[in-house]
Amino acid sequence: MLADVFGYTAFRGEQERAIDAALAGRDSLVVMPTGGGKSLCFQIPALLRDGVGLIVSPLIALMHDQVRALQELNIEAACLNSSLSHAAQQEVIGRLRAGRLKLLYVAPERLVQAHTQALFRDIPWSIIAIDEAHCVSQWGHDFRPDYLALNELASLFPGVPRMALTATATPATRVDIVARLALNEPAVLISGFDRPNIRYLVQSKTDARRQLLRFLNNHRDEAGIAYCLSRNKTERIAAWLETQGFTALPYHAGMSAEDRAAHQHRFVTEESVIIVATIAFGMGIDKPDLRFVAHLDLPKSIESYYQETGRAGRDGEPADAWMVYGLQDVVRLRQMVDESPADEEYKRHERHKLDALLGWCEVTDCRRRPLLAYFGDEGSGPCGNCDNCLEPPATWDGTEAAQKLLSAVYRSGQRFGATHVVDVLVGDATEKVVRNGHDQLSVFGIGGELDARGWRSVIRQLIVQGYLIVDQHRYGALVLTEHSRALLRGEVSLRLREDKKDPLVRKKTPASKSIVSEQDRELWDALRACRLRLAAEHNVPPYVIFHDATLMQMMEVRPDSPGALLGISGVGQAKLERYGEQFLDVIRGAG
Ligand code: ADP
Ligand code: ZN
Repeated sequence: MLADVFGYTAFRGEQERAIDAALAGRDSLVVMPTGGGKSLCFQIPALLRDGVGLIVSPLIALMHDQVRALQELNIEAACLNSSLSHAAQQEVIGRLRAGRLKLLYVAPERLVQAHTQALFRDIPWSIIAIDEAHCVSQWGHDFRPDYLALNELASLFPGVPRMALTATATPATRVDIVARLALNEPAVLISGFDRPNIRYLVQSKTDARRQLLRFLNNHRDEAGIAYCLSRNKTERIAAWLETQGFTALPYHAGMSAEDRAAHQHRFVTEESVIIVATIAFGMGIDKPDLRFVAHLDLPKSIESYYQETGRAGRDGEPADAWMVYGLQDVVRLRQMVDESPADEEYKRHERHKLDALLGWCEVTDCRRRPLLAYFGDEGSGPCGNCDNCLEPPATWDGTEAAQKLLSAVYRSGQRFGATHVVDVLVGDATEKVVRNGHDQLSVFGIGGELDARGWRSVIRQLIVQGYLIVDQHRYGALVLTEHSRALLRGEVSLRLREDKKDPLVRKKTPASKSIVSEQDRELWDALRACRLRLAAEHNVPPYVIFHDATLMQMMEVRPDSPGALLGISGVGQAKLERYGEQFLDVIRGAG
């Protein structure tokens, strides 16, 4: 089934065990990272068992994409949701009643309607899959009240195995999902959270645009997302990227629905569009061939970071998660939490999450280990695929520098922000310094060993490590903390990270066209052109025809017969019949 229909050679992670549980009629909870291959876990049982697979999914766009992809495989699949016309819905219902469907996707709000339940009562269901199952949990970040009603599925359709699937899985959320969906002694299948093909890169922000450009120069002709905090900034960065020769489109909640849909459509149907977006973009995008996710501003928490970066490289090919951050981000995010109208307890919670992320930004050894540990995956070695593993950052004894800085903060009365304190340290007699008499302080000019950028890096790390706070009520004044004293007295010492001036830039990714050798280039371009043409003809995104990895393999193996083409991963029977000849022609043409 796997090879025949889907064209894959082996199961991944826990796929096989999840499928076995469903085939045995058992409930299950499947936790896999984004891109882990959750869909296959319910699609294969739905195809193998008698009856219809019912898939509950919260995102209409995603439903359409999955149904399209299944139809490409000659599988009878459809969805029922409010975006369909009445006639189209009747047509789907007709096929459902006539037993001419193997999979049906519905939104949760639909499922709770009485007439839907009446319709569904007599359908022989093979499996019920609840996608994005964390939406049932109030612990999660995407709680949806409609999901709570899904616990009725157990009594409405007794005897039908149910499978809850999610990529979010703190232990509390897992327990909550099982309880709220009333799963019956489920098989719990948890794949590791690691996304080994994603390379984590974090740089301190010096000149964000120049840094971004250097990073993107390694991703010319590739698709990806660049996240920014503000709507305005997404527009400015997208416009600027256009002037640098990229196809870049903004996306944020302030745009009209048409513009957003148009930009999303281009992102999915073209091959190398960069979306510059606020976090409004991403949910419900299952384009598997994003080669990078870039953060120009810090996300709110490690969860958000992991979810956003997880959108890169779902096809398993190398991808980059790149981020720049600086003192300004630290100050701004702290401020956003402090000024939010939420209650104190919630703010404390948010502050805690932000601190975990900031601490992670400053780590000097493997970045992947603490990320995985955050999700309960302990005990792996250094990953070899993050900036710190690849180029271990230098650290230095920052005790004395920190003492100078804390003294300058203290002597100037804990009333000034970073810029002023740095002016005092480096001995810059600005008007403000003179007006406040700070050129007369003993600390004036004692910090000549570092430049302003160096001092800002020290301040940033002192804030993150809890030796300084930024007082929002006093215009961002730096203030000492209860820990500062021990450092000032020399009772503790402090190691600081040396910010690299010219940090690591990724080597070309194997999937990128730029590393295809000269002699293969022509064939590679021809295969991609063929895919793009077929995609337009069939009105599907290019990756629904074949993934990059499949084209890559065609290029290497150069199959010359239908049988040989079937041996390529990603080519199954249906796609062979549909597109085989066209790709064989291209390969033969290349001689
Ligand atoms: P998820 O829903 O877990 O984020 P998907 O089900 O969309 O992930 O799968 C991610 C990608 O991996 C898809 O493009 C899919 O075709 C591919 N895939 C899934 N299972 C396999 C497998 N066993 N071998 C190769 N590719 C697979
Ligand atoms: Zn690492």
